[in-house]
Amino acid sequence: MQPVFRFAPSPNGYLHLGHAYSALLNNSLAMAFNGIWLLRIEDIDTTRCRPAFEQALYEDLAWLGLTWPAPVLRQSRELGVYRAALARLDAMGLLYPCAASRQDIAAALARREAGGAASWPRDPDGAPRHPGLVDKLSHTEAEAFTSRGEPVAWRLDMGKALATIAANDSPLVWTRFTAEGELSTVVAQAARWGDVVLARKDIGTSYHLSVVVDDARQGVTHVVRGKDLEAATDVHCLLQRLLGLPTPAYLHHDLIQDSGGEKLAKSRGSTALRELRAGGLTAADIWERLGFAPCPD
Ligand code: GLU
Repeated sequence: MQPVFRFAPSPNGYLHLGHAYSALLNNSLAMAFNGIWLLRIEDIDTTRCRPAFEQALYEDLAWLGLTWPAPVLRQSRELGVYRAALARLDAMGLLYPCAASRQDIAAALARREAGGAASWPRDPDGAPRHPGLVDKLSHTEAEAFTSRGEPVAWRLDMGKALATIAANDSPLVWTRFTAEGELSTVVAQAARWGDVVLARKDIGTSYHLSVVVDDARQGVTHVVRGKDLEAATDVHCLLQRLLGLPTPAYLHHDLIQDSGGEKLAKSRGSTALRELRAGGLTAADIWERLGFAPCPD
Protein backbone atom coordinates (compact mmCIF):
# COMPACT_ATOMS: atom_id res chain seq x y z
CA MET A 1 0.00 0.00 0.00
CA GLN A 2 1.44 3.38 -0.98
CA PRO A 3 1.81 5.73 2.00
CA VAL A 4 -0.42 8.80 1.78
CA PHE A 5 0.52 11.99 3.63
CA ARG A 6 -1.37 15.27 3.70
CA PHE A 7 -0.76 18.92 4.43
CA ALA A 8 -4.00 20.48 5.64
CA PRO A 9 -3.76 24.22 6.21
CA SER A 10 -6.66 26.53 7.06
CA PRO A 11 -6.82 29.64 4.86
CA ASN A 12 -7.34 32.05 7.74
CA GLY A 13 -4.11 33.98 7.22
CA TYR A 14 -0.99 33.99 5.07
CA LEU A 15 1.30 30.99 5.32
CA HIS A 16 4.35 31.59 7.49
CA LEU A 17 7.60 29.75 8.07
CA GLY A 18 5.88 27.26 10.40
CA HIS A 19 3.54 26.19 7.61
CA ALA A 20 6.44 26.00 5.18
CA TYR A 21 8.22 23.66 7.59
CA SER A 22 5.16 21.42 7.91
CA ALA A 23 4.59 21.33 4.15
CA LEU A 24 8.26 20.62 3.39
CA LEU A 25 8.40 17.91 6.05
CA ASN A 26 5.30 16.24 4.59
CA ASN A 27 6.90 16.46 1.16
CA SER A 28 10.27 15.08 2.22
CA LEU A 29 8.78 12.25 4.31
CA ALA A 30 6.37 11.30 1.53
CA MET A 31 9.39 11.00 -0.79
CA ALA A 32 11.44 9.10 1.78
CA PHE A 33 8.59 6.64 2.38
CA ASN A 34 7.84 6.28 -1.37
CA GLY A 35 4.47 7.85 -0.84
CA ILE A 36 2.51 10.86 -1.99
CA TRP A 37 1.17 13.88 -0.19
CA LEU A 38 -2.16 15.61 -0.69
CA LEU A 39 -3.09 19.20 -0.08
CA ARG A 40 -6.38 19.64 1.79
CA ILE A 41 -7.98 23.01 2.45
CA GLU A 42 -9.52 23.07 5.93
CA ASP A 43 -11.87 25.98 5.47
CA ILE A 44 -14.94 25.01 7.49
CA ASP A 45 -14.54 28.03 9.75
CA THR A 46 -16.30 30.49 7.49
CA THR A 47 -15.90 33.23 10.10
CA ARG A 48 -12.10 33.23 9.65
CA CYS A 49 -11.26 31.65 6.28
CA ARG A 50 -11.02 33.88 3.18
CA PRO A 51 -10.76 33.03 -0.56
CA ALA A 52 -7.84 35.48 -0.84
CA PHE A 53 -5.88 33.51 1.77
CA GLU A 54 -6.65 30.27 -0.07
CA GLN A 55 -5.38 31.74 -3.34
CA ALA A 56 -2.26 33.02 -1.60
CA LEU A 57 -1.68 29.59 -0.09
CA TYR A 58 -1.56 27.92 -3.53
CA GLU A 59 0.80 30.62 -4.77
CA ASP A 60 3.11 30.35 -1.76
CA LEU A 61 3.31 26.54 -1.90
CA ALA A 62 3.98 26.63 -5.65
CA TRP A 63 6.66 29.28 -5.09
CA LEU A 64 8.29 26.93 -2.59
CA GLY A 65 8.55 24.45 -5.45
CA LEU A 66 5.89 22.04 -4.19
CA THR A 67 3.33 20.24 -6.35
CA TRP A 68 0.28 18.23 -5.27
CA PRO A 69 -2.37 16.11 -6.95
CA ALA A 70 -5.63 17.66 -8.17
CA PRO A 71 -8.41 17.99 -7.26
CA VAL A 72 -7.76 19.53 -3.87
CA LEU A 73 -10.38 18.65 -1.26
CA ARG A 74 -11.92 21.80 0.21
CA GLN A 75 -13.80 21.02 3.39
CA SER A 76 -16.34 23.80 2.99
CA ARG A 77 -17.73 21.84 0.02
CA GLU A 78 -18.12 18.64 2.01
CA LEU A 79 -20.46 19.59 4.83
CA GLY A 80 -22.97 16.86 3.91
CA VAL A 81 -20.32 14.19 4.47
CA TYR A 82 -19.59 15.49 7.97
CA ARG A 83 -23.32 15.70 8.68
CA ALA A 84 -23.65 12.02 7.78
CA ALA A 85 -20.85 11.08 10.20
CA LEU A 86 -22.50 13.16 12.90
CA ALA A 87 -25.83 11.41 12.25
CA ARG A 88 -24.09 8.07 12.71
CA LEU A 89 -22.74 9.04 16.09
CA ASP A 90 -26.15 10.41 17.03
CA ALA A 91 -27.81 7.13 16.02
CA MET A 92 -25.38 5.40 18.40
CA GLY A 93 -26.75 7.61 21.20
CA LEU A 94 -23.42 9.34 21.72
CA LEU A 95 -24.36 12.98 21.10
CA TYR A 96 -26.36 15.59 22.93
CA PRO A 97 -27.34 19.11 21.94
CA CYS A 98 -26.10 22.14 23.82
CA ALA A 99 -27.50 25.64 23.35
CA ALA A 100 -25.14 27.49 25.71
CA SER A 101 -23.34 30.47 24.22
CA ARG A 102 -19.75 31.39 25.07
CA GLN A 103 -21.15 33.98 27.47
CA ASP A 104 -23.40 31.36 29.15
CA ILE A 105 -20.40 29.09 29.61
CA ALA A 106 -18.24 31.92 30.96
CA ALA A 107 -21.00 32.90 33.39
CA ALA A 108 -21.49 29.30 34.57
CA LEU A 109 -17.74 29.00 35.05
CA ALA A 110 -17.56 32.23 37.04
CA ARG A 111 -20.39 30.98 39.30
CA ARG A 112 -18.63 27.66 39.88
CA GLU A 113 -15.29 29.24 40.62
CA ALA A 114 -16.64 32.06 42.78
CA GLY A 115 -16.01 31.93 46.51
CA GLY A 116 -12.67 30.12 46.24
CA ALA A 117 -14.06 26.82 44.96
CA ALA A 118 -11.50 24.58 43.27
CA SER A 119 -10.97 25.67 39.70
CA TRP A 120 -13.09 23.94 37.10
CA PRO A 121 -11.20 21.32 35.03
CA ARG A 122 -9.98 22.42 31.61
CA ASP A 123 -9.36 20.40 28.46
CA PRO A 124 -5.87 20.33 26.87
CA ASP A 125 -6.76 23.46 24.86
CA GLY A 126 -7.61 25.30 28.08
CA ALA A 127 -11.38 25.30 27.50
CA PRO A 128 -13.68 24.43 30.45
CA ARG A 129 -14.46 20.74 30.43
CA HIS A 130 -18.02 19.45 29.99
CA PRO A 131 -20.37 17.94 31.19
CA GLY A 132 -21.64 19.50 34.38
CA LEU A 133 -21.12 23.13 33.52
CA VAL A 134 -24.27 23.93 31.55
CA ASP A 135 -27.44 21.95 30.87
CA LYS A 136 -27.61 19.17 28.34
CA LEU A 137 -30.65 19.52 26.06
CA SER A 138 -32.87 16.72 24.90
CA HIS A 139 -33.33 16.18 21.17
CA THR A 140 -36.88 17.57 21.45
CA GLU A 141 -35.62 20.73 23.14
CA ALA A 142 -33.01 21.10 20.41
CA GLU A 143 -35.72 20.90 17.75
CA ALA A 144 -37.58 23.73 19.48
CA PHE A 145 -34.41 25.84 19.42
CA THR A 146 -33.65 25.18 15.76
CA SER A 147 -37.25 25.80 14.70
CA ARG A 148 -36.92 29.24 16.32
CA GLY A 149 -33.85 29.83 14.16
CA GLU A 150 -31.44 29.28 17.06
CA PRO A 151 -28.96 26.57 16.10
CA VAL A 152 -27.47 24.30 18.76
CA ALA A 153 -24.05 22.70 19.10
CA TRP A 154 -23.67 18.92 19.35
CA ARG A 155 -21.34 17.46 21.95
CA LEU A 156 -19.92 13.97 22.22
CA ASP A 157 -20.97 12.29 25.47
CA MET A 158 -17.43 11.27 26.44
CA GLY A 159 -18.56 8.91 29.21
CA LYS A 160 -20.84 6.97 26.88
CA ALA A 161 -18.30 7.00 24.05
CA LEU A 162 -15.61 5.53 26.29
CA ALA A 163 -18.04 2.94 27.65
CA THR A 164 -18.91 1.94 24.07
CA ILE A 165 -15.33 1.30 23.13
CA ALA A 166 -14.49 -0.32 26.47
CA ALA A 167 -16.88 -3.11 25.50
CA ASN A 168 -14.50 -4.24 22.74
CA ASP A 169 -11.50 -4.41 25.00
CA SER A 170 -8.68 -3.34 22.71
CA PRO A 171 -7.05 -0.24 24.21
CA LEU A 172 -7.38 3.14 22.53
CA VAL A 173 -3.89 3.75 21.14
CA TRP A 174 -2.20 5.36 18.17
CA THR A 175 1.16 4.81 16.51
CA ARG A 176 3.83 7.50 16.58
CA PHE A 177 6.36 7.34 13.76
CA THR A 178 9.65 9.14 13.32
CA ALA A 179 11.47 10.36 10.22
CA GLU A 180 13.77 7.36 10.66
CA GLY A 181 10.78 5.02 10.47
CA GLU A 182 10.74 4.06 14.16
CA LEU A 183 7.31 3.23 15.56
CA SER A 184 5.97 3.48 19.11
CA THR A 185 2.57 3.13 20.69
CA VAL A 186 0.86 6.02 22.48
CA VAL A 187 -2.18 5.57 24.71
CA ALA A 188 -4.91 8.10 23.83
CA GLN A 189 -6.27 9.94 26.85
CA ALA A 190 -9.59 10.99 25.39
CA ALA A 191 -11.27 11.47 28.79
CA ARG A 192 -9.22 14.62 29.45
CA TRP A 193 -11.17 16.35 26.65
CA GLY A 194 -14.57 15.88 28.26
CA ASP A 195 -17.68 16.28 26.10
CA VAL A 196 -16.06 17.92 23.04
CA VAL A 197 -18.13 19.84 20.53
CA LEU A 198 -18.38 17.82 17.32
CA ALA A 199 -20.72 20.23 15.53
CA ARG A 200 -20.44 23.93 16.14
CA LYS A 201 -23.64 25.98 16.11
CA ASP A 202 -22.49 28.14 13.22
CA ILE A 203 -21.01 25.54 10.86
CA GLY A 204 -22.61 22.23 11.82
CA THR A 205 -19.27 20.43 12.07
CA SER A 206 -15.93 20.81 13.83
CA TYR A 207 -12.22 20.43 13.18
CA HIS A 208 -12.16 17.08 15.04
CA LEU A 209 -14.98 15.51 13.06
CA SER A 210 -13.97 16.80 9.62
CA VAL A 211 -10.31 15.89 9.97
CA VAL A 212 -11.10 12.32 10.97
CA VAL A 213 -13.65 11.81 8.19
CA ASP A 214 -11.33 13.25 5.54
CA ASP A 215 -8.16 11.47 6.64
CA ALA A 216 -10.12 8.23 6.26
CA ARG A 217 -11.80 8.91 2.95
CA GLN A 218 -8.58 10.25 1.42
CA GLY A 219 -6.77 7.09 2.52
CA VAL A 220 -4.25 9.04 4.63
CA THR A 221 -1.81 6.64 6.26
CA HIS A 222 0.65 9.17 7.78
CA VAL A 223 -0.30 12.44 9.47
CA VAL A 224 2.53 14.96 9.89
CA ARG A 225 1.50 18.07 11.79
CA GLY A 226 2.61 20.36 14.60
CA LYS A 227 2.97 19.42 18.27
CA ASP A 228 0.15 21.86 19.04
CA LEU A 229 -2.25 19.23 17.65
CA GLU A 230 -0.76 16.23 19.44
CA ALA A 231 -3.32 16.21 22.27
CA ALA A 232 -6.16 16.39 19.74
CA THR A 233 -5.06 12.97 18.50
CA ASP A 234 -6.82 11.53 21.59
CA VAL A 235 -10.15 12.69 20.20
CA HIS A 236 -9.30 11.73 16.63
CA CYS A 237 -8.39 8.23 17.68
CA LEU A 238 -11.64 7.86 19.63
CA LEU A 239 -13.76 9.09 16.72
CA GLN A 240 -11.96 6.71 14.35
CA ARG A 241 -12.78 3.82 16.67
CA LEU A 242 -16.43 4.88 17.04
CA LEU A 243 -16.89 5.37 13.28
CA GLY A 244 -15.00 2.21 12.33
CA LEU A 245 -12.27 4.16 10.50
CA PRO A 246 -8.56 3.29 10.36
CA THR A 247 -6.14 5.26 12.55
CA PRO A 248 -3.18 6.65 10.57
CA ALA A 249 0.31 6.86 12.09
CA TYR A 250 1.19 10.30 13.45
CA LEU A 251 4.29 12.46 13.68
CA HIS A 252 3.87 15.74 15.58
CA HIS A 253 6.78 18.00 14.74
CA ASP A 254 8.28 20.79 16.82
CA LEU A 255 6.85 24.21 16.13
CA ILE A 256 9.06 26.74 14.42
CA GLN A 257 9.64 29.62 16.77
CA ASP A 258 10.45 33.24 16.12
CA SER A 259 13.73 34.77 17.27
CA GLY A 260 12.12 35.58 20.65
CA GLY A 261 11.27 31.88 21.13
CA GLU A 262 7.54 32.33 20.61
CA LYS A 263 5.28 30.18 18.44
CA LEU A 264 4.62 31.80 15.07
CA ALA A 265 1.11 33.05 14.57
CA LYS A 266 -0.40 33.72 11.20
CA SER A 267 -0.88 37.33 12.15
CA ARG A 268 2.85 37.93 12.44
CA GLY A 269 3.55 39.42 9.06
CA SER A 270 7.30 39.31 9.47
CA THR A 271 7.51 35.58 8.85
CA ALA A 272 4.78 35.35 6.22
CA LEU A 273 6.26 33.64 3.16
CA ARG A 274 5.11 36.44 0.90
CA GLU A 275 6.85 39.03 3.07
CA LEU A 276 10.06 37.03 2.98
CA ARG A 277 9.71 36.66 -0.77
CA ALA A 278 9.11 40.40 -1.20
CA GLY A 279 12.19 40.98 0.95
CA GLY A 280 14.28 39.10 -1.61
CA LEU A 281 14.51 35.57 -0.17
CA THR A 282 14.32 32.68 -2.66
CA ALA A 283 12.58 29.36 -2.17
CA ALA A 284 16.03 27.77 -1.85
CA ASP A 285 16.78 30.14 1.05
CA ILE A 286 13.60 28.97 2.83
CA TRP A 287 14.42 25.29 2.29
CA GLU A 288 17.89 25.85 3.67
CA ARG A 289 16.77 27.98 6.60
CA LEU A 290 14.29 25.27 7.62
CA GLY A 291 16.87 22.52 7.30
CA PHE A 292 15.71 21.00 4.00
CA ALA A 293 18.32 20.88 1.31
CA PRO A 294 18.64 21.08 -1.52
CA CYS A 295 15.57 22.68 -3.08
CA PRO A 296 14.94 21.01 -6.48
CA ASP A 297 15.00 23.35 -9.52
N1 GLU B 1 -6.08 22.77 9.59
C1 GLU B 1 -5.23 22.67 10.72
C2 GLU B 1 -4.37 23.91 10.86
O1 GLU B 1 -4.21 24.65 9.90
C3 GLU B 1 -4.31 21.46 10.65
C4 GLU B 1 -5.06 20.22 10.86
C5 GLU B 1 -4.27 18.93 10.90
O2 GLU B 1 -3.16 18.87 10.35
O3 GLU B 1 -4.80 17.97 11.45
O4 GLU B 1 -3.87 24.15 11.93
